[in-house]
Amino acid sequence: MRWTYFAALLVLCGFLATSTVVSDTATAQAQSTTDSCLDPQSDITLQNGVSVPRTEANVTGVLDYNRNTQRLTITYHNLSSVEEFWVDLSTTHYNRGVRIVNATGFANLSSDIGYSFRWDGKTSRPEVTLTVVGQPASGRENHEYAASSRWGFFPVPSHSEATNLSFASQGFVGDQFILAGPNTVHSATAGCQDIRLIVPQAANLSESPDSIVNSLASASSQFDAGPRYTYVNAYAVTDPIRRGGAAETHEFWVHDAATFDFGSEFRGGVILANTWLHEYTHTRQLFTFHSTVDLGEKMWWFTEASATYYAVDLTTRQVYASPCNYTYYFWNLSRRRMGNVVLSNQSRWGPHEQGQYRKGAVVLSALDQRIRNETNGQRTLDAVVYRMNTHNGTVTYADFKQIVKDVAGTPLDSWLDTHITTSTYPEPGLRKKACRWHLAKQQLLYTNKGRVALLLACLIVIGTGYHIYQWKQN
Ligand SMILES: [Zn+2]
Repeated sequence: MRWTYFAALLVLCGFLATSTVVSDTATAQAQSTTDSCLDPQSDITLQNGVSVPRTEANVTGVLDYNRNTQRLTITYHNLSSVEEFWVDLSTTHYNRGVRIVNATGFANLSSDIGYSFRWDGKTSRPEVTLTVVGQPASGRENHEYAASSRWGFFPVPSHSEATNLSFASQGFVGDQFILAGPNTVHSATAGCQDIRLIVPQAANLSESPDSIVNSLASASSQFDAGPRYTYVNAYAVTDPIRRGGAAETHEFWVHDAATFDFGSEFRGGVILANTWLHEYTHTRQLFTFHSTVDLGEKMWWFTEASATYYAVDLTTRQVYASPCNYTYYFWNLSRRRMGNVVLSNQSRWGPHEQGQYRKGAVVLSALDQRIRNETNGQRTLDAVVYRMNTHNGTVTYADFKQIVKDVAGTPLDSWLDTHITTSTYPEPGLRKKACRWHLAKQQLLYTNKGRVALLLACLIVIGTGYHIYQWKQN
């Protein structure tokens, strides 16, 4: 009888510790967005090739992807009007496995700094053929291009003359990327920005293409961070390309395994959160790509920190995550620290430079919260990013402190110094009100203090129960 009673009490304690709570519903924050857009073409880096629109091209290239040999051949036309014509690829592309395996009608002048082929001036339709070598088993190496029997993903080579590339068969040519093989293009418009999602038939997306393209368009309107590029090309890629994603100005790719569920990221190691919105955020960082602005050395951490922070924050503004998911993410991220990270010093970003993602995002969650508190919710971190993007010249750490002061209406210099120039972590900016019970439960279950408190509470309940039982027996 006595043991049945104890067992019942233990089961009750266990239930209190493990019961789940229904998440809060998400709130969409509509922000005022200055609707101005920029032409992305002039921001494309020199080492990246670009396919220009047909109307602007002196030379045209017709693409053909052979799925059996897994080779992409570009046949150049209309060379009669040009005196010289060069095709180049950088060592970055070479290091990522891209090879030119044939160049009919070109002299090979390649060197240590990359591939370089000069047209012989005679062949009327010269050709170069590309492939990708050393493709690893999925997810194991840093591969960003692919050539397989179902699809291919290649960089656009650099050309000495304005060149337009297009497929004779199925494929999509962006500005800097070529996707070979059958694909579907999904589009959405957000004010002056057009979003295109290019999905190869070979991909197996974890989120539906409609959800992805609509989420990108919502983020485009909701993120009040200054001018946007007139269009964004988002490529879904699949194995053998590594997991995660990468962005180049207004274009990015994301592995098809990516989801909107950032809770699952903690099992994967690298914390990108929602990779779709992480890479989209990069396209809104004019301080990374635009010619009028860049970041000072002590601010380099801000690029990945803000992409990681907004991957979570922008998802939370949509239906895909609640303030409670947001809170749980940053609570978890600040618990799992990797060494003594000093954000202002790149050599102190820890293993695989993870500190800029992890501590960087925690600091920005705290800063966003401070700005909201100081301005009674009138301003958010968006206003800081906006001012950085529209800054003229280099955004130094001193400029950043001034921007934060202007946005918050009060200087936060010593708070910023403590968390950016030393290894001190801030308390993350948790949305506690929306998530009180959930947070209390996490703190009870996953911190030592919480576990001790829970154990003591259970002992008290058991002790009191035992006394009541004895009292009743007497
Ligand atoms: Zn990133």
